[in-house]
Amino acid sequence: MALRNIRTMGDECLNKVCKEVKEINDRTRTLIEDMIDTMYEANGVGLAAPQVGILKRIVVIDVGEGPIVMVNPTILETSGEQTGQEGCLSVPNKAGIVTRPNYVKARAFNENMEEYEIEGTELLARAICHELDHLDGHLYVEKVEGELMEATYDEDEE
Ligand code: ZN
Repeated sequence: MALRNIRTMGDECLNKVCKEVKEINDRTRTLIEDMIDTMYEANGVGLAAPQVGILKRIVVIDVGEGPIVMVNPTILETSGEQTGQEGCLSVPNKAGIVTRPNYVKARAFNENMEEYEIEGTELLARAICHELDHLDGHLYVEKVEGELMEATYDEDEE
């Protein structure tokens, strides 16, 4: 298990548009494994490669049903709306209210570069939107309605 340092707001990596992954090699596989370890260690439900300083279009998500690896993800369809609290491992100890779609359908590649589609509602839909924003250099704080709040100790972070 290898942990990577999570970059925090102010680090320029978090404001960059990430590059498409052309092939999965051993380095990419190690990166994906490290991202999953780092996400679990930090009790997050998602982590994007730029959060560990790698400007590639890779995210990992686990909303409690096992890890999901998304390489070169794109959102195909969204519907509905949910408004709720969100946090980010790159914005430690903060939370804010963000409105996201309540349903998301996305296409991505897995760690073997096999294409798949995924549908999610509620937390999974929120996590997909949040993590994909990272790949285009956006943080949820840009979308917060009202003020950023101090997160209480037990809150889920994304
Ligand atoms: Zn985040």
